[in-house]
Amino acid sequence: MNWRPYVKMRISPAAAVLVAFAVLPGRDVHAETLRVELVRAASVVLSGAGLRVDGVMMTSGRVVVRADAGHLAVNGAAAATVARVAADGPFNVDDRGVRADVTLRAEGGLVSVVAALDLEDYVAGVTASEMVPSWPLEALKAQAVAARTYALRQKLAVGIDAAVHVQATVIDQVYRGAGAETSSTIAAALTTKGEVLTFGDEPIEAYFHAACGGRTETALAAFGHAQPYLASAVCGADGDAPKAKWTVRISLEEVAARLGMAGLSSVSITSRSETGRVAAVELRAGRSTRRMTAADFRRLVGYDRIFSLGFSVEVVHGELRFTGSGSGHAVGLCQWGARGMARSGHDYRAMLAHYYPGTELRRMY
Ligand SMILES: [Zn+2]
Repeated sequence: MNWRPYVKMRISPAAAVLVAFAVLPGRDVHAETLRVELVRAASVVLSGAGLRVDGVMMTSGRVVVRADAGHLAVNGAAAATVARVAADGPFNVDDRGVRADVTLRAEGGLVSVVAALDLEDYVAGVTASEMVPSWPLEALKAQAVAARTYALRQKLAVGIDAAVHVQATVIDQVYRGAGAETSSTIAAALTTKGEVLTFGDEPIEAYFHAACGGRTETALAAFGHAQPYLASAVCGADGDAPKAKWTVRISLEEVAARLGMAGLSSVSITSRSETGRVAAVELRAGRSTRRMTAADFRRLVGYDRIFSLGFSVEVVHGELRFTGSGSGHAVGLCQWGARGMARSGHDYRAMLAHYYPGTELRRMY
């Protein structure tokens, strides 16, 4: 699932040419790279054989890098603000495998670790993390196209020359490093190599989620901005999802603590979106009431407690009893729906056309 807030794209002329899929003179469009921030932390551990930081050979196979007063500290010794890492072969950044060029950068008190990945290696890795590698190949291919499209759009939105195009977490797409990919997700990436979903001449905002519960949500209702291709689609193929239907009980006390609203006695739904999802709630504690958006309510109570906004709620014996369907933000590709479509004989093109209506699948290289 991807959670990055909507970014209005400002496409540079060079990027616009890329998006239009024209070949730039002298530019090798076959080598599309993506700069992925693997880690941003106070310290990171590099491990592997023949490690070199900015060309300096490390004497041990384990190196600790910290950020100190605006520059890097490598095994305690002051170094530059930006440093390249190389090794004799694959190496590790904390517990992630890396087979690419890595740049370390001191930013405030944190070390940013960025790998320059081949786009297709990244797509194979993301597909393995964001979907189940044993799922049907056609569903994995739909996920691969969505992941590639999302990444390319993000790259264009932040600028081709930006130090970081995407983060390796749910804010963008989960990437667990080299070695996370499987033969099936590599096949999904390679059999769709270079294919990008477009609307007009832009890569689309390829949002995806676990299970919509029967009907996807519009981007307007979920994120506050409309896209013609992020309309609501009837799904009906995700009934095998573990959270197709769910019931969760949470004590009023726990919800009160999470909301910072002592004495919470009831939660009522005050409005719903056109697809029936909760849009706003009213909370009551004694004589005071508080209104909030359902998205804020779900975030505060926990995404792992309230699985989607498709719920109803009642108070039963001091507990809030939520009865709901689906999991995730429900915008764009429904992963369990794609699995269901694959099992009934549809190919990835049919899935992408269904969940992103009006888009065009184009081959970038
Ligand atoms: Zn669905």
